[in-house]
Amino acid sequence: MEESGERVVACPWCDEPEEIEMVAEFGSHLMVSQYICRSCRSPFEVIRR
Ligand SMILES: [Zn+2]
Repeated sequence: MEESGERVVACPWCDEPEEIEMVAEFGSHLMVSQYICRSCRSPFEVIRR
């Protein structure tokens, strides 16, 4: 897993970083943000830093 320091969000299902849309700044926890992948229409959460 690469850690470049930049917050690059990629879809965990199709690994598509260009079709990601943030749907909520806070997800099920305060430390995660909710995103949805427009490519495969799958929602997922990313841990905020
Ligand atoms: Zn996807």
